[in-house]
Amino acid sequence: MELTPVTDLPEVRPGDDLAELIADRADDLEGTVLTVASTVVSKAEGRTADLEEYPVSARAEEIAAHIEDVAGEEKDPRFAQAVLEESTELLVEAPFLLTETRFGHITVNAGIDRSNVPEHDLLLLPKRPSESAERIRQGLEDRGHEDVSVIVTDTSGRPFRHGQRGVALGWAGMPASRDWRGERDRDGRELGVTVQSVVDELAAAANLVTGEGADGNPAVVVRDWEFGDLEGSDELYRSVEDDLVRQALREWRFEP
Ligand code: GDP
Ligand code: MN
Ligand code: MN
Repeated sequence: MELTPVTDLPEVRPGDDLAELIADRADDLEGTVLTVASTVVSKAEGRTADLEEYPVSARAEEIAAHIEDVAGEEKDPRFAQAVLEESTELLVEAPFLLTETRFGHITVNAGIDRSNVPEHDLLLLPKRPSESAERIRQGLEDRGHEDVSVIVTDTSGRPFRHGQRGVALGWAGMPASRDWRGERDRDGRELGVTVQSVVDELAAAANLVTGEGADGNPAVVVRDWEFGDLEGSDELYRSVEDDLVRQALREWRFEP
């Protein structure tokens, strides 16, 4: 497979049509996977915010008193309020905020970014990243680029390991994972649990090309990669009932 950036994308503004910006700068997209950093999806969708828009609740005051001041202003109770408003559940409240976003992704600070946001304090994640991916996919199809799969990505930390990597937040035109269960290994033993999260693996690979900071490559074209014949599934986010770690976190409560 080959991963190449879509070069010369401009600073993305609210209301920009990402499919158009990308289609103008890339050809031969048929049959490819296109990854798009959530940062530019959020910018195009106007998901910027300012701290002054968040009147602080008592809960946000309480939370802000316990979170570590990692990036300077994160102790701001208005920031805690913004995280609460983007979230359906607070899993960890100190020394950092780990929450479930409204679309099911679990991440630190509800994925709210404070970098690459000109003129505003905060960049919120797209509201429904799979719908964003589908809009981009449809926009490309309308411009003659058939059979493109789109993955909206974010840089995200992992439990148990240092460092961040690209993950998929939303996808369109392909399933999230492929199911190897029932396939055989080299010794003929049947695979019992292997479900490969291909959207995350593609997001992680593409993020090497996307880069970080000021690299300026929010869109990456993945060529010569095939989903293949295995059965696909769109289940990426675990439900609480299906997630032992999360159940354990519910039992564990931070005591100030
Ligand atoms: P995230 O991983 O989705 O949170 O986004 P990042 O802040 O890591 O940005 C991903 C990539 O997009 C980096 O290479 C940034 O330099 C680049 N980037 C961010 N915003 C823009 C933009 O408006 N235009 C362009 N051309 N690149 C951007
Ligand atoms: Mn981000
Ligand atoms: Mn990033």
